Amino acid sequence: MNTNSEDQYAEIPPLDNSETGNKGNSHCMPDLSIIIPMYNEEDNIPLLFSRLFPILNGISEKWELICINDGSTDKTLDLLRKEQEKHHRIVIVNLARNFGQHAAVMAGFSQASGKWIITMDADLQNPPEEIPKILEQFSKGHDLVSTIRQARQDSWFRKTASRITNRLVTRISGISLGDFGCMLRGYSREIVQSILNNPEYRTFIPALATFFARNPVEIEVKHEERAAGQSKYSLLKLLSLQLDLMTGFSMWPLRILFFVGSIIAVMGLASALAILLMRLYYGPEWAVQGVFTLFAGLFFLVGCQFFALGLLGEYIGRIFQAVRKRPPFILDWVRKDSC
Ligand code: UDP
Ligand code: MG
Repeated sequence: MNTNSEDQYAEIPPLDNSETGNKGNSHCMPDLSIIIPMYNEEDNIPLLFSRLFPILNGISEKWELICINDGSTDKTLDLLRKEQEKHHRIVIVNLARNFGQHAAVMAGFSQASGKWIITMDADLQNPPEEIPKILEQFSKGHDLVSTIRQARQDSWFRKTASRITNRLVTRISGISLGDFGCMLRGYSREIVQSILNNPEYRTFIPALATFFARNPVEIEVKHEERAAGQSKYSLLKLLSLQLDLMTGFSMWPLRILFFVGSIIAVMGLASALAILLMRLYYGPEWAVQGVFTLFAGLFFLVGCQFFALGLLGEYIGRIFQAVRKRPPFILDWVRKDSC
């Protein structure tokens, strides 16, 4: 199965820039790379390209279109190869199996050579007609263009879940974004390079890009209903994505354990003291011959256990941070006297 997909990849011709008339290496570098992850999107590809190409042909930047086939089991790859024969600016990145949207976008980043990079979905929920808006922000000097979906066309459940996550994540991670979930975004090469230099096994690109940005901006974009097919996110996949976002950008969940443990330990100690005093005042009958005292001790111990777990959590959290190897700061520039 694996070998098969690798063989198919090997057959794909390299990107031909003859359309642009540029043959030299440095001259074929595109200005703009569009990255689209695709997982079983056979029904959307024809419409997507028929709307995307007129937009891309209308802009002055030299572009390339990077389509990542994220382990599709339908005709997505076949369709992409047919499109590539017609449009040589398409680059196909074929993944060995399904790795998920964010991993697929990372694979796209690793192949992008544009000075500017735009990511979007294949299902036309992000209208291609909004791309020039992002380019306009780049020309104003922004290095990251995040987007907020206007009148979002998703189920009530998805919208409510997003609203809660947006608020929660902004609070606990300190990264403030109006809409973490929209993947129609623009990045400078520097940001993409920082993300690539810092690969994390599981990550959440919008938050990571914001972490690396120097001059980010947020704009509103239109949102449409999925053109065809179903959302590729099951409830479990959604939950796992939210957990990546939470654990990847904050140690807060681990800290809850520590605080809850401390509170229970203090309450356990207080009730143990109260029981001891009552026992001294009312005598052993009141304390059911020591049963209450046993409970008091137990409460205290349970509290201590949570406390210890929380403390362990703090250490694990720090190890986790170190393993992630995220830089503690981002250097903008250094000025030195040359003498
Ligand atoms: N996608 C992917 N791999 C996956 C799931 C999704 O490449 O495992 C792609 C999918 O083909 C689409 C984009 O990611 O281009 C967004 O997926 P979807 O529309 O299902 O997400 P939703 O809009 O429901 O959040
Ligand atoms: Mg979608």
